[in-house]
Amino acid sequence: MAPLAPEERATPVLPTRVVDPAPLTKLRPRTPGIGLRARLALLVVIAVTIFTAGRVLLSRRGAAEPLLDEARSRAIALTGSLTVPCAMALAVHALERIDRYLDAAARSARGPFGLVDVSMLDHEGHVVAHASVGAYRGGRLGSENASMNAFLKEAAASPDTLWRERSPAEGQHLMDVAVPAVSGIRWGTIVATFDLGDVDARMAEELHTSVAVAGALALALMLAMALGLERLVLRPIRQLRNATVAIEGGDLAARTELRSRDELEQLGTSFNAMASRLEKYTTELERMVAERTSELGRVNDQLRNANQKLKELAVRDPLTGILNRRRFDELLEFEVRRGTRARHPFAMLMVDLDHFKRVNDTYGHPAGDRVLKAIAEHLKAKLRSTDIVARFGGEEFAILLLDTDRTMAYQTALKLCESIRALPIHVDDDDTGIEQVTASIGVATFPHDAATTADIIEAADRALYVAKNSGRDQVVQAERNVRPRS
Ligand code: GH3
Ligand code: MG
Ligand code: MG
Repeated sequence: MAPLAPEERATPVLPTRVVDPAPLTKLRPRTPGIGLRARLALLVVIAVTIFTAGRVLLSRRGAAEPLLDEARSRAIALTGSLTVPCAMALAVHALERIDRYLDAAARSARGPFGLVDVSMLDHEGHVVAHASVGAYRGGRLGSENASMNAFLKEAAASPDTLWRERSPAEGQHLMDVAVPAVSGIRWGTIVATFDLGDVDARMAEELHTSVAVAGALALALMLAMALGLERLVLRPIRQLRNATVAIEGGDLAARTELRSRDELEQLGTSFNAMASRLEKYTTELERMVAERTSELGRVNDQLRNANQKLKELAVRDPLTGILNRRRFDELLEFEVRRGTRARHPFAMLMVDLDHFKRVNDTYGHPAGDRVLKAIAEHLKAKLRSTDIVARFGGEEFAILLLDTDRTMAYQTALKLCESIRALPIHVDDDDTGIEQVTASIGVATFPHDAATTADIIEAADRALYVAKNSGRDQVVQAERNVRPRS
């Protein structure tokens, strides 16, 4: 392949990818929905709520089990402390001592694990002594009784310590404990019921504290997450969006300044690179367009000037610079039409230099040219700017005197004839040789002598012919006799 010419290489090649307009319509921004900020905030709230609820549930279970374990241990210990003295009393049938022991226990049992009811069963499961505190005095009713009887039966039969929790009524939480009463042999069972109301109250209090702490933690977490998201995600995205909007609005120098050392910074770097390329291409394109436009303007000016020159050349005689025969014919045609319509008179003068051949023969052709130019200038200078002077051919000039009647035309022709005669013409380059030139003039007037272009030219030419034949250096009007030299 042949190497490129330098100017070809210098011309930047812009990408010429054709963009299908259809997909562009899909890029139109849709009506904004829920913003990213609101969505992230919602996510944070959901996450923190789940976390808080989980924490509260766990802390509730975590707090309840040790408290219940402690209550059970103490209940068993308290009940157990009654078993030996009560077993010994039962061994000697001292039932009133058992009553005293139980009453003393019921009276002294205070605190969070309040004893509400205590009984002693003999080895057959019969209640031999019983003491209760407050509302519990008076025994149990209905299904509670049945449930309690079942427990007593099971306790009397079991060699081990038994316990259970129950809620006989709304807001009531009790624990039943049964401990075998042994003194040498098994004499019976001590069964006690404890109120866990205080334990529940402590549990509720701990739960409230735990919920409050979890709530405060949740709020702090939400705030931290919101701040983090704002700083790490939302702010960089806003920066990117602002830069995009600026570029979309025509500010191609807009760039992002992300320093987050993460994917968003990478995105910003790619965005900046893309914007730089876009700016470079656009600037280059604008420069090329401006260059081409000014080049086009220059070429247009040149073309306009050339056209102007061509037009001038088409209507002017190159030697004398006055109008040529073609243009004269057009103007004559126009004046005939105008004159016919508006009844304007005008005259045509046919001017032919006398014995011009002699000038050429004597001084040479270039001298003849100088004479022709001098006569053309003279005719222009002598006539009105509205009159039309043209070179008809060779040493013949044709003149149109506008808005001029027959008499005025004749007067003007006479003056021209005289002025040509009086004109000293330099035929030499060094202005030494001065020649006198005369001219014969034929005059035809519209509409008096002729009413068409051809007839006017013919009439003027005929008059000129008459002037030549009548001795030259004179004016002859069409269809009139030769006028003698004045
Ligand atoms: P007449 O009085 O009968 O008009 O005589 P004349 O010599 O002027 O007439 P003729 O028609 O015989 O000669 C015209 C001469 O004009 C012939 C030609 O060489 C000369 N001529 C025509 N055009 C030009 C031109 O452009 N330059 C020069 N120098 N001479 C020209
Ligand atoms: Mg001639
Ligand atoms: Mg002549």
